Amino acid sequence: MIRKFFSDGIPSFFNDYDTGAPFTRCTFCDGGLATKSKYAIEKMINQNIVLQSREIVYEYALCWDCATTMGSEISDDSKEAIQGLYNEHRETVMRKLDYLHSTEKYSLESWLERCSLTGKEIRLCGEFSVSGIVEGGNLVYEQSPIVVSDEFMYKLQQVLSKETKEGFDGLRDKIMDGSPSIEDLVFGPVPGLM
Ligand SMILES: [Zn+2]
Repeated sequence: MIRKFFSDGIPSFFNDYDTGAPFTRCTFCDGGLATKSKYAIEKMINQNIVLQSREIVYEYALCWDCATTMGSEISDDSKEAIQGLYNEHRETVMRKLDYLHSTEKYSLESWLERCSLTGKEIRLCGEFSVSGIVEGGNLVYEQSPIVVSDEFMYKLQQVLSKETKEGFDGLRDKIMDGSPSIEDLVFGPVPGLM
C-alpha cells in the first residue's frame, strides 16, 4: 500500500550544501523552482565508515521539464536494462515502501536507513545517493525518497550499455564544471525509468 504524504516543507538534508538554504533554481535550466509545481533533488554522498564522516560528491535540483527531457535521452536498450534490474529488486522495493507507509514512518531517517533496491544498510555504504521529489514546496513521501546503495550502483553500471555510457559522457561535456554527471541521473527518479 503506497500513500502520498506531504512533509511540512523540505527537510534540511535536501538544502543546498553551499548556501545552507533550500535550492531556488534548477541546476540544468536555471529556471526558478518557486514557479515549478514539481522538482527533484538528488545528492551523491561519499561516506567514510571508519571515521563516520560524509561529504557531498555532488548535488542538484532538477525541474520536471528537465527530468522528462533527460529521461527521453536515455536509449531504449538502456531503459530496458535498467527496468529489468529494477524489476529484479521489485520485491525489496515494495516491502520497504509497504512497511514505511503502513507504519506511517514519514521521517527521512526511516527512509534512508536501507537501500531502496537491495536493502543494504546505508551506514555500511562507501557511497550512496538520495533523491526526493518536492511538490508545492513540500517533500513528498510516496515511491520516493529513494536511497541507492553502492551495491546497486555497481549492478547498474554492469547492465548499462556502452552506447548509453557514451551518450551520457557527451551530455556531461555540455554541462559546466562542478555540476553532476548525467550518468548518475539514472539513480534518481528520472521519469520513465521506475
Ligand atoms: Zn530545469
